[in-house]
Formats: sequence, structure tokens, C-alpha cells
Amino acid sequence: MSPPLLIGSEIYRGSTYGPKHPLAIPRVSTTLDLIRSLGWLDERRYLDSPRATPEQLARFHDPDYLAALMRAEATQSVSPEDRERFRIGADGNPVYREVFRRPATGAGGTMLAARLTARGGVVHVPGGGTHHGMRARASGFCYLNDAVLGLLAWLDQGLSRILYLDIDAHHGDGVEIAFRDDSRVVTLSVHEKGRWPFTGLTHGRCGALNLPVPPGFHDAEMRALLHGAILPVIEALQPEAIMLQCGADGVEEDPLARLSLSNNAHAEVIAAVMHRAPRFVLLGGGGYNPWTVARCWARGWGVLNGRVPPERLPPEAEAVLRGLSFHRAAGRNPPEHWFTTLADAPREGEVRPEVAALLAGLPAMLESVAECAA
Ligand SMILES: [Zn+2]
Repeated sequence: MSPPLLIGSEIYRGSTYGPKHPLAIPRVSTTLDLIRSLGWLDERRYLDSPRATPEQLARFHDPDYLAALMRAEATQSVSPEDRERFRIGADGNPVYREVFRRPATGAGGTMLAARLTARGGVVHVPGGGTHHGMRARASGFCYLNDAVLGLLAWLDQGLSRILYLDIDAHHGDGVEIAFRDDSRVVTLSVHEKGRWPFTGLTHGRCGALNLPVPPGFHDAEMRALLHGAILPVIEALQPEAIMLQCGADGVEEDPLARLSLSNNAHAEVIAAVMHRAPRFVLLGGGGYNPWTVARCWARGWGVLNGRVPPERLPPEAEAVLRGLSFHRAAGRNPPEHWFTTLADAPREGEVRPEVAALLAGLPAMLESVAECAA
């Protein structure tokens, strides 16, 4: 298999959802800077993300909605009708400078990743993972759903057994809904129970699998789910392709969720699943602490390339992390290890009964997968 590819874009540099929004922070640009400063990128393996065209986006999205999104970018405003109907400029989905171009670039990147893996391969798209985007509506800071578009691109190549795995702190509702009636895509989401969008509490029919976890969910519990649920599902499905949405908001220091993972959990999941199918695409997703996100996703690229994080970051990498600012409480006095390390300290513990109970649901999960394959 050829070495992994990294798809990024400079559109993210300096782009913001507005000063008070959780996505005021730089994420993809910092991740790319960190990867490069570690010397972990052969530039021949880096691709600039194309911007998906409205025609390409219409493979999933409603053309009227796409037109409204382009209108919002062009006028930097939204009509009351468009706001009401498409939730642009509402619910935390602001009109911002690149409100069409940026998500269209994320979508173009994930669709390109699907094309590049047509005959197999590994691709990382840290700007992808907008899993809440709906067909005709913005939702949860997501305007388009690049994951759905990438999965559709795989289906259009003739694949018929695909796993979409989502370890973001929030339920991957947009992807689950998009493939609810499509037996070719199994969706499996691990997310915090009782958190927005408040869905994903049970398994849906035909391979819509959900593992809602309690606050405080830690590395040992993720490992238990990995070996007791995720890998057995993969074993049963034998997918031709796996897409992993690797939101970093499950890491302890994230301000928008109450999970207690370290980035070791993300690294462990990536390492365990990346070779379980001939095609593997790693996406970004949520993540609202700039240090946590960049360290988690740069580490993900490292895992794909068999790189071990250095004990202490080289000065160039440390400078990237020291250059960040964060206008939330955690940004006032960031701990030193956010600047000097890539790997978090492990956060282990006992597997609590609530998590063990999810493992007891494995037979039902496998039944759902079998129903899907039938
Ligand atoms: Zn999230």
C-alpha cells in the first residue's frame, strides 16, 4: 500500500466563525503547521483540497439550500426566509466570510479522498468530519456534510460494505440519517449521552449503531469498546472501506463536552482500525480547545505514518503551540505540556457498569449488521 496522503487547505488559516463562537479558533492550519514542524510531512504526500462544485454537492444537498449558502457568502447576510428554512445565521451556524467556500473545500477534500482510495489507500483530511450537516439545513456548526459526500463517492465506485465510525463527543446524526435506509453503509457512533443533538441513544435498524457513553468516559473505557464492540463489528462486516470521524472534543480539556479521554485513545482507535479495510479515510470533526485539537490530529497523522511522538517537541513545534491564544478560561493559564508534548498523559480507570452494559449489547449490534448484509 502506498504511503498515506494528507489533504489540507490554506482556506482555514485566518478563517473564523466570529470572535465569540467555539470555532473562533484555528484548527486545521495549526494541525498542518504542527505536522510540518515535526518533520512528519513529505510534501509529495500533501494535496491541496479542491473546492467541491455546487453540482458535486448536489449529490447529497438540496440545490435550493446550496443556493442560499452561496447567497449568504456573497451578501454576508441572510434573509429571514433563508434563516428560518435553512438555519443559516441561526443555531450557532453564523454567516461568516467563507461560509460557502470553506465547507465546500472540506467536502471537496473528503470526496477527493474517496476518489484517491478507489483502489485502496490511506488518506487524512483534518478539515473534514462535519457530521451534523443535513441535506437541506445547517446544523451544529456544519453547513455541508463532507462525510456523507465522501461515503456516497465510495458507493458510486461500486462499494457495498462500508463502515463509518465516529468517535466525536457528539452523535454523528447527519451521517446516520443520510444512510438510515441504505444497507451498504454501517454507521457506528461513540458519543456522550445526554449531550446535543440528544440522538443516538439506541441502535437503529440495519446497521445504525450507537454507543452513548457517560461523562467521564476515559481511555480504558474506550479500549473496552474498541475490543468489545468496534473491532467485532468490523470483523463481522468485513468492510471494503472505513471512514473514521476523529473529533477531538472527547478529550478531557475540551470546553464543549464532558468526556475524559486523552489523545492516546484516539491514537489507539486509529491504529486498531486503519488496516482493517483496504481503504481508510481519517477525518477531523469537533474540537474546541486549539491545543487539544492540533495535538490530537497531528498525532493521528503520525499514527498513520508509524511515527512515535517525541518525548519533548522540537522548538519549531513548540513555537507553533505557544503561538496560539484562546479566549476561554482554559486559555488564561495553559499547562506547560500543551506546548511541549504531543501525547497526553494516559487517563485510565475502571470500566464502569454503564460502559460494560454497552458491551452486553454486542449481539444486537451484530444482528443489526447481519440484517444489513442480508
Ligand atoms: Zn463534536
